[in-house]
Amino acid sequence: MARRRFYIHTFGCQMNESDSARMGETLAADGWVRAEAADGADLVLLNTCAIREKAEDKLYSALGRYRILKSARGTRIGVAGCVAQQEKSRLLERAPYVDFVLGPDQLAKVTSLAADGRGAVETGWLPSEEYLFPQADPESSRGAATAFVTAMKGCDNVCSFCVVPYTRGREMSRPYPEIVGEVAALAAVGVREVTLIGQNVNSYAGGCTFAQLIRRVAAVPGLLRIRFTTSHPMDLSEELVACFAEVPELMPHFHLPVQHGSDAVLRRMRRSYTVAEYERRVAQLFAVSTGIALTSDIICGFPGETDDDHRLNLELLARIPYDNLFSFIFSPRPHTSAARHLDESAEWAEVPRPLALARLEQVQALQQRRTLERHRAAVGSELEVMVEQAAGGERFGRSRENWTVHFQGGSPVGSVVNVRIESATLVALRGRESALVEAPLVPAPRRALPVVRA
Ligand code: SAM
Ligand code: SF4
Repeated sequence: MARRRFYIHTFGCQMNESDSARMGETLAADGWVRAEAADGADLVLLNTCAIREKAEDKLYSALGRYRILKSARGTRIGVAGCVAQQEKSRLLERAPYVDFVLGPDQLAKVTSLAADGRGAVETGWLPSEEYLFPQADPESSRGAATAFVTAMKGCDNVCSFCVVPYTRGREMSRPYPEIVGEVAALAAVGVREVTLIGQNVNSYAGGCTFAQLIRRVAAVPGLLRIRFTTSHPMDLSEELVACFAEVPELMPHFHLPVQHGSDAVLRRMRRSYTVAEYERRVAQLFAVSTGIALTSDIICGFPGETDDDHRLNLELLARIPYDNLFSFIFSPRPHTSAARHLDESAEWAEVPRPLALARLEQVQALQQRRTLERHRAAVGSELEVMVEQAAGGERFGRSRENWTVHFQGGSPVGSVVNVRIESATLVALRGRESALVEAPLVPAPRRALPVVRA
C-alpha cells in the first residue's frame, strides 16, 4: 500500500517552525512521508499565526487554495497553531472543509487526527504536571549546522496588545536536563549552533535561571554558538548580561523588544518598564559587550499615540544604536485589552491608518539608513561566519552578530570560516571565504546517539 504523504505549511515565528518540525517527526514515526509540495499530499497541515490580523488573513487565503486541492483529490486539511487555539470551532464554521483543528498543547494528537479527525477540535490546555515538551528527533537535524531548541512556552505577561497569552497559554519552562540532553544529541549529529526559543525565553525557570541554562548549554562538547529569542526587558537580569561577557559561545546579538519610546504608550501597553529603565538595561549590556548587535520590535499607531509620543519614539530610536528593527502597525487582536479599549476615550483613540502608516515609514526609514550604514562599514573587514548552506561554490551563513552573509567559498556546512566582505545591502552582505576557522564536527553514527528521555 502506498504510504500516506503530509505537507506542513508554517506561518509565523520560530516557535511555530519548531512545532511544525515536531509534528512532522511525529507523523513520520507513524509511517507518514513528507511531500515536496501540497499537491502531492494526502494531508495538508497549516500551522498558523494570530499575532496580527494580516497573519490571520494569510491563513484564510491559503485555505482557499487548499480547498481546491481537497475538491480535486480529497486532501485532508488540518489547522494547528495560534489561529486554531484562538478560533476553535469557529474555524470550522468559517471553513467547513477543514477536517480538524489542533491547539499548541495538543500536538501529540496529530497522528490520530491526521488519520481520522473529521470535525475534531482539540484545543484544551494541559496542566503543567501532565504537559511534556515534545522532544526533537536529532536525526531530522543531521546535516544541519543550526537548530531551534524549545526552552519554554506560553507567556504570563499581559501586554495589552498581545494575543500570545490566549493562544499559547500559561508560561511553562522545560526542565534543563531535557534541554541540555537535546542540545547534546543535536551536537552529536553535527549541529554547531542552537537558538533557545520561547515567547519570553529570559523568564525561564526550568530548575535553574536562564543565565545558568546558557552556561550549561555552552558546556556541551562541539557546540560553538548559542542564540536565544525572544526576551522581555523586565526579565533581563544582571546575570544574563554577564553571560555576554563571560560565555564565548553566546553570540553578540540580543533581540530585546522595546515596543515604544513613550512612557505613556508603554503604560497603556502594560509593558511594566519605563523608557529610562529600558535604556539603563541596554547601557549595562553595551558596557559588557561593546559590539553587541541589539535588535528590537516597535509598534506604531498604538491607540492614543499622539504626535508627541511618536516624536519620543523616534528620539529613542535615534539614541539607541539598534542594529535592526522589526516594526509593525498596531493590529487589534481578539481577547486583548487594547482591542477592548480601542476608541473608548481620547486616551485610547484609534490612530487613523494613513497616519499610523506614515509614522511606521518614518521609523523604518530611520532604521534602514542605520542598518545600511552598519552593513557598509563591514565592507573590507573579515567576519566570522558559520556555513549554513552550500551549493557549488556559493555559501550562505550568519556572522556572529546574526548578519546574513552570502559568499564564495569551499568549506562545508557546519564549518566556521572567515569571510572578507566585499559589498553590502540593507538585507545582506556578500564576500569571499578567506580562511577556515573551525572544521565541521564528524557526526556520530546513528546507533551511537545519546538517549535523551525514556
Ligand atoms: N515576547 C516578546 C516581547 O515581549 O517583546 C514579543 C513576542 S510577539 C510574538 C512579537 C512582536 O509582535 C511583538 O514584540 C510586537 O512588536 C508585535 N505584536 C504583537 N502583537 C501585536 C499587535 N496586536 N499589533 C502589532 N504588533 C504586534
Ligand atoms: Fe506578548 Fe511578549 Fe507581552 Fe508575552 S511578553 S504578552 S508574548 S508581547
